[in-house]
Amino acid sequence: MDFTYHYTKEQEEFRQEIRTWLERNIPKDMRAPVDRSALTDEQFNFWREMGKTLAAKGWLYSTYPKEYGGGGLTGAHETIIMEEFDKARVIAGFTISYVFPTLLVWANEEQKEKFLTPLLKLEKVASQLFTEPGAGSDLASLQSRAVRDGDDWILNGQKTFIGGRAVADYLMGLFITDPDAPRHRNLGLFMVPFPSEGLEQRRIKLLTGNDSSFYFLDNVRIPGDHLIGGDHQGWQVAQTTLEIEHGGRGAAFPRDEALENLLKYVRQTEYDGHTIGADPILQQRAMEAFIDSKIFNLYSKRNYWMYQARQEMSYHGSQSALYGKVFRMTNADRARDILGMYSLLGVREPRAPFGGQQEVYQRSSLTGAHPGGTIEVQKVIMARRIGISRTRERAAPTPSSAGVSGV
Ligand SMILES: Cc1cc2nc3c(=O)[nH]c(=O)nc-3n(C[C@H](O)[C@H](O)[C@H](O)COP(=O)(O)OP(=O)(O)OC[C@H]3O[C@@H](n4cnc5c(N)ncnc54)[C@H](O)[C@@H]3O)c2cc1C
Repeated sequence: MDFTYHYTKEQEEFRQEIRTWLERNIPKDMRAPVDRSALTDEQFNFWREMGKTLAAKGWLYSTYPKEYGGGGLTGAHETIIMEEFDKARVIAGFTISYVFPTLLVWANEEQKEKFLTPLLKLEKVASQLFTEPGAGSDLASLQSRAVRDGDDWILNGQKTFIGGRAVADYLMGLFITDPDAPRHRNLGLFMVPFPSEGLEQRRIKLLTGNDSSFYFLDNVRIPGDHLIGGDHQGWQVAQTTLEIEHGGRGAAFPRDEALENLLKYVRQTEYDGHTIGADPILQQRAMEAFIDSKIFNLYSKRNYWMYQARQEMSYHGSQSALYGKVFRMTNADRARDILGMYSLLGVREPRAPFGGQQEVYQRSSLTGAHPGGTIEVQKVIMARRIGISRTRERAAPTPSSAGVSGV
């Protein structure tokens, strides 16, 4: 087995084309700031428009089918694009990316044209409207209701922690359609247009910034063709979303900027006539950080490769999600040991190393433990899939396993 990427001449030319284009078209002051949740309005508007151009070039959602507005490219192309986007500090898209696989697997042809195509072209943006104040890890206990009224549906309820800096045009939400049906067979998944009459958004300030929201639904009327899948199939549809969110697609290019900066700090910072890497304790801490980050990188790439090769996935997604959540918090702890108080200096502090990136990491590693299934929930999923739980489960269908075109 060979873990090294070998790019062909055509792929290297493709890389050069992207690099040159980005150098010409991305002004320096528009590059993604260290604290991405603190985008200025000007930066946000620039990337919202630039995203449409990148989508038209096929680079934004590169592996999704061309017929729906994706790039129709391969995983190798996506890897190159992500590497170059990272170097140029591109902010790629604003839709929660798990919406695309969900629509690819479950939407009918008309719905793909209506929802998927404008999302892949970045004419529209979507968010994921699942969590409620009383239903997070135990999502199936949600309370929000959808009631049929002629051809329409009337929605009522409350959702929370809904992520997204952009104001979404669609909220992909789970609602009870049949309160008498058994758990997991009583839900529908809907594309809720925003704005809609009776739908109110209120921002929540999290540790990482101001990009999360409450949504309140008071008799929101939506058309019948906004139901994705059957009116009792919402749980199954949402499992596709969660499969991807739980790491089931892996990552083409899992770069760890916090680790790179930490190692740079150890190499460059001098104390008592030596670089601090000469201190045996700091050296051990830095090496632990390095090893954990590399293990996560391998899990991500393995999953990406399995997904692209349409291999059957089981515990693999949750294994990488779990490892990612734990190692980031542990590495934030190691960064505090190595940088001391400097790790807590934010982006506005002139003496903050790496423009305050380590302080952003301290906060994001904490909030990152929750979305897309907590640490404990990832273990529950893995246990079910390797057969050491009360219940057994298999991975939900994804574009990879369902055999649809575009992964
Ligand atoms: C930054 C951020 C972004 C988010 N973005 C979105 C979004 O875009 N859309 C959306 O719908 N939601 C979003 N969420 C919500 C997220 O999905 C929930 O926070 C998550 O599912 C956990 O739910 P909870 O917060 O209600 O915690 P709870 O479910 O109340 O869990 C509390 C604790 O109990 C533990 N626990 C719960 N059940 C078990 C169990 N069976 N076994 C062992 N331990 C258990 C948990 O691990 C956790 O430690 C976001 C959350 C955050 C923090």
